[in-house]
Amino acid sequence: MGTNPLLRGLLNLPLVTLIVQKFGGTSVGDADRIRAVADHVARTRADGHDVVVVVSAMGKFTDDLIRLADDVSPTRPPRELDMLLTAGERISMALVSMALGARGVESASFTGSQAGIITDTDHTRAKILEMRPDRIREAIAAGLVPVVAGFQGISTDKDITTLGRGGSDVTAVALAAALGADSCEIYTDVTGVFSADPRVVSKARRLPKVSFDEMMEMAATGGRVLMLRSVEFARRHGVPLHVRSSFTWEPGTWIVEEDPTMEEAIVTAITDDSSEAKLTIDGVPDRPGVAAQLFRALADASINVDMIVQNTGTNGLTAISFTVALTDLDEASAICNEVKALIGATSVTSDASIGRVSIIGAGMKSSPGVTAQMFETLSNNGINIEMISTSSIRISCVVSADKVAEAVRILHTAFGLDAA
Ligand code: ASP
Ligand code: MG
Repeated sequence: MGTNPLLRGLLNLPLVTLIVQKFGGTSVGDADRIRAVADHVARTRADGHDVVVVVSAMGKFTDDLIRLADDVSPTRPPRELDMLLTAGERISMALVSMALGARGVESASFTGSQAGIITDTDHTRAKILEMRPDRIREAIAAGLVPVVAGFQGISTDKDITTLGRGGSDVTAVALAAALGADSCEIYTDVTGVFSADPRVVSKARRLPKVSFDEMMEMAATGGRVLMLRSVEFARRHGVPLHVRSSFTWEPGTWIVEEDPTMEEAIVTAITDDSSEAKLTIDGVPDRPGVAAQLFRALADASINVDMIVQNTGTNGLTAISFTVALTDLDEASAICNEVKALIGATSVTSDASIGRVSIIGAGMKSSPGVTAQMFETLSNNGINIEMISTSSIRISCVVSADKVAEAVRILHTAFGLDAA
């Protein structure tokens, strides 16, 4: 973390702060947007700050590249896919750097590999193992604005990797942490984090401040503004995040450590997620080791399992239901069928038309009755709950996909979140 300004003053240190500014796809979507970004970076520099820029691929370029890959090959060789996709961010970094140069701001672009982002070898969803941003530090010291390609790194096998969809956020936060930046600004096409998706709830409100814990729950349950891993990373390294708009440039939402002196809202936000599917295995023998066998097989295939519900056994048999990403459904079904044969279960069924609605709030910890109120609100509106899971600051319900939007709206109203 950078030293605070007061301490800097006392120690007679220069009042320079280091800000990492990350610009998402829409923020660099065309030449006009790129020029606007360069203007903003130039203003930040003129205010006396050091800046490191991280960019995403322009607009929907990553999706276009994936389509191209699908057009030329029925499979997606992960190493080649990574090589292909990193091109998107490289285009952005060079263009932003040029636009900065045109404004008299000295700058240089760097790939993830040049920025010293070392990852494991898990192509298309690599994890950062180590940060060696020496060249970025040198560039800052030389008075340049480094522009780093987001979403990518170099593996311990010296291959180019990507960090998973939305991974530029992770790049920005990891750089901010490694460089001891004062804050990490995430510029996007919305003005911050909202109490619900404004496209679903017209009365959703922008939240001025959200705690890391709440933001992690939001990101994990369908809040689409920030990638979950980036929030985890920011929390672990204490990097304050500021999510804001590159269209209005107004202050957005700060994501910071919880302030223990503040009264917490009971419910801060409602999220929805329709990207998952439900699998159920029936007639599972109710004995030790069976669940372990199933979830080990899924884990070995790198399938993330989310909500899990196991019924009380009757007559020595039980049922296990869980959710996975829709994109993993076919593979997960196949694995379940294999395990079914091994353990002697009776059937595997799946449902792709489900959605999850979650209510999140740090104040929930100390307020009884929130769960009851959520269930009553849903039942009063005839919405059936198929699965439930909770954490200390979140309650999630799986409902039928066509009820998700309505569920979010009625819960937003019921918990007093509607804007006046
Ligand atoms: N361009 C990549 C994606 O679309 C990474 C990012 O935007 O963060 O997922
Ligand atoms: Mg993104």
